[in-house]
Amino acid sequence: MYSGLSPRLSEAARACYTLSVSQVTHLECTKCGAQVSADVPRNVCLQDGGILYARYHLQSLKQTFKPETLREREASLWRYREVLPDVEPVSLGEGFTPLLSSREFPKVWIKDEGLNPTGSFKARGISVAISVAKAYGLKKLAMPSAGNAASALAAYAARSGLEAHIFMPRDVPMANRIECEAYGAHVTLVNGLISDCARIVSERKEREGWFDFSTLK
Ligand SMILES: [Zn+2]
Repeated sequence: MYSGLSPRLSEAARACYTLSVSQVTHLECTKCGAQVSADVPRNVCLQDGGILYARYHLQSLKQTFKPETLREREASLWRYREVLPDVEPVSLGEGFTPLLSSREFPKVWIKDEGLNPTGSFKARGISVAISVAKAYGLKKLAMPSAGNAASALAAYAARSGLEAHIFMPRDVPMANRIECEAYGAHVTLVNGLISDCARIVSERKEREGWFDFSTLK
């Protein structure tokens, strides 16, 4: 049994974290196909630990969506709002990064994700995840990271006023550590690997009231 939701959070979730992320029809386990509601915060499938994918009304969207409606919208990933949770975005201008043509291979285009806030594609997922966390009313987020995800979490947590608790291997790039601390995250350096950091988050999250923000959870 995987503890995607701690019993305490699960109870709290029913009491105060209920949310209608209306465009999301449900969450679907990528392993067993189980369908669960997106109205409460979740990590992984409770049966098998499978990753949960957000599912949308794509069939009805097909009837109504016109690509030209995107043209007038902001240059960030939130312009694709029909396939994002219907919550107030916590945005630092992520997405809409340039495609550069390869000098070596004429038909190859390179997406320059380094231009995202905090310098990696992690800004995309964290922007959406923090927006939903805030809408659920979560306050404290915890994550094991070897670098880029931690930087993104620290920046978006600062932007949204949520607490970030980050566990990094001691040999993580110094730039990531400094960035997290500068954004005001609670950073703990761990003598070990990323898996040791993940174990610490898992062991302490219930007691500390942290929501596990690990990548793919
Ligand atoms: Zn499952």
